[in-house]
Amino acid sequence: MKVLIIGNGAAAISGARALRQLNKDWEIELVADEVHPFYSRVMLPEYLAGRVSQEDLYLVDWDFYQKLNIKVTLGTRIEALEPTLARAVTASGEKIDYDLLLIAAGARPVLPEVEGANLQGVFTLRTIADVEAMGRYLESTHVERAIIVGGGLVSLRSAEAFRKLGISVTIVVSSGRLMSQTLDEASAQALLRAVREAGCEVLFNEDVTAFHGDVHLRGAELASGGRVVGQLALIGKGVRPRLSLVPGTSIAVDRGILVDEYLQTSIPGIYAAGDVVQAYDLIRKGKVCNGIWPSAVRQGRIAGWNMAGLGVRDDGDIPMNAVHLFGCSICSLGALTGDETHVRGSFQEDNYRKLVFSRSQLVGALFWGNLRDAGRYYWLLRTGRNPNGRTPPVWAWEKLRS
Ligand SMILES: Cc1cc2nc3c(=O)[nH]c(=O)nc-3n(C[C@H](O)[C@H](O)[C@H](O)COP(=O)(O)OP(=O)(O)OC[C@H]3O[C@@H](n4cnc5c(N)ncnc54)[C@H](O)[C@@H]3O)c2cc1C
Repeated sequence: MKVLIIGNGAAAISGARALRQLNKDWEIELVADEVHPFYSRVMLPEYLAGRVSQEDLYLVDWDFYQKLNIKVTLGTRIEALEPTLARAVTASGEKIDYDLLLIAAGARPVLPEVEGANLQGVFTLRTIADVEAMGRYLESTHVERAIIVGGGLVSLRSAEAFRKLGISVTIVVSSGRLMSQTLDEASAQALLRAVREAGCEVLFNEDVTAFHGDVHLRGAELASGGRVVGQLALIGKGVRPRLSLVPGTSIAVDRGILVDEYLQTSIPGIYAAGDVVQAYDLIRKGKVCNGIWPSAVRQGRIAGWNMAGLGVRDDGDIPMNAVHLFGCSICSLGALTGDETHVRGSFQEDNYRKLVFSRSQLVGALFWGNLRDAGRYYWLLRTGRNPNGRTPPVWAWEKLRS
């Protein structure tokens, strides 16, 4: 049996490890278009800020693949799939046969279709190559102000990195608050205070309609008619699954590759995991693209086990984010809107906690400062049970704390 894995990120590596755990004999080949060993994308802002080296990002040694008896080909893009012939075709025309396939191709940043988006100085942040390109630009160009487009996690972590580099920052947010997908109103306000204290300017309900400059970026025009002067722009408007391998196949897609509870696509023998998929979400009760690291790891592992024949069902995803941002420790789990909320603590005391319920079922939780209990509530959201096995009346905050 030969297993082909497309990708070298969290989903791919988790899949390869799980498969090898159960099967020592099958041939595994892993192909990815980046040239680095498996690394942490989450740490890229730290690399941008110069706080860690490139090697610090690496999550495995170069000999990892050999130790797992995996053939690895980096710097090679798979251009097309031919599922009827059970083979993949590389950009140089090489054909790779497989018996089982795992697509773990991740996602790519969304680029707004505005004038000037191709000017030098306009960047996204997804790969080591992106940080290297920004580094070269910062060395060759005097950057006084960075314009950050978007108010989500990648935008804010990049803003923090630029402030650490001594660069002024303007953040342009199309909604009315920071991290609108992840935070409630109160925590978004508390984070905004910290972001402003760090010296960032934040413009809400605003959009960049064009970038301008000669060759290099000089600034951005705003929907309100205003302008921001800046020599570098970073676009953080979310990601979209990389679906370039799907056309020409009968793999079912919506926003991402659709997978069943075994992480199998609509074609038997072809599995998919990570940012590239649209998978069942336990809280939203539908298939969504969550685009987070823990989901990529879990889905990759389940896909790997199932390719080995284990038959494990994935009970679904839970949106979660645990971050340390502008001095604030935040963990957000599940959905933050429901018909009943319970709030304890405060931002001043650095221990704000909120539980959100819908029809008496816990659907989300937010922790600020003290994240000690977050793991417990994650477990509760996933299983409806306390870690000790008892099923608590989830509407009763006091009981949850006991
Ligand atoms: C700056 C930043 C900060 C983040 N912070 C967080 C965080 O705090 N918490 C969190 O949960 N998540 C965070 N994320 C998201 C997290 O990194 C992703 O969810 C995770 O990396 C997804 O893993 P993946 O394996 O699905 O895809 P990826 O890591 O994107 O890997 C995709 C792989 O596929 C390869 N590939 C794609 N197409 C092809 C092709 N056609 N041919 C060959 N190879 C191909 C690529 O080379 C790559 O190896 C962050 C992401 C970024 C960029």
